[in-house]
Amino acid sequence: MTDRFAFNFDPARCLNCGACEIACQQWKGIKAGTLKLRKIEEVTVGSFPDVTRKFSSVSCHHCIDAPCAAACPVGAINQQNNGIVVVNKEQCTACHVCFEACAFGIPQFDEEGIMHKCDMCLDRLEKGQKPICAEACPTRALQWGNSTTRESK
Ligand code: SF4
Ligand code: SF4
Repeated sequence: MTDRFAFNFDPARCLNCGACEIACQQWKGIKAGTLKLRKIEEVTVGSFPDVTRKFSSVSCHHCIDAPCAAACPVGAINQQNNGIVVVNKEQCTACHVCFEACAFGIPQFDEEGIMHKCDMCLDRLEKGQKPICAEACPTRALQWGNSTTRESK
């Protein structure tokens, strides 16, 4: 059985420190204030006076049978055997169909309209390192691991 990789997120541990979001931007060389391949979203639970703020670190879920890959009219989005969904920016025609196909609104577009998304830090995985976002999380709220063996790193 081919190993599949996934993120695991525990909101109870999240400090909303932003380390995962910033680490991702820096590793990917993305200018601050532009694209966010990983972002912290705030979730407000309850109503006044019993209101709770929870935070969620959101990025591509690398869905099984990824709808974005199926929707891309030029085949610019591919899903690897290990489940990781990657986009070939050279092939992308900026049609934005993938955005419509994604239930989570994950695809991001640069000034030319070319799609960018999380690739699970493939360059790091190839060196036996874990994704920089999971590496940067101080509380292990964000973990990454092998969803086949259920082993997290
Ligand atoms: S924007 Fe690019 S990646 Fe997305 S569906 Fe269109 S061609 Fe494919
Ligand atoms: S795996 Fe890499 S590209 Fe994906 S959100 Fe984490 S740091 Fe960003």
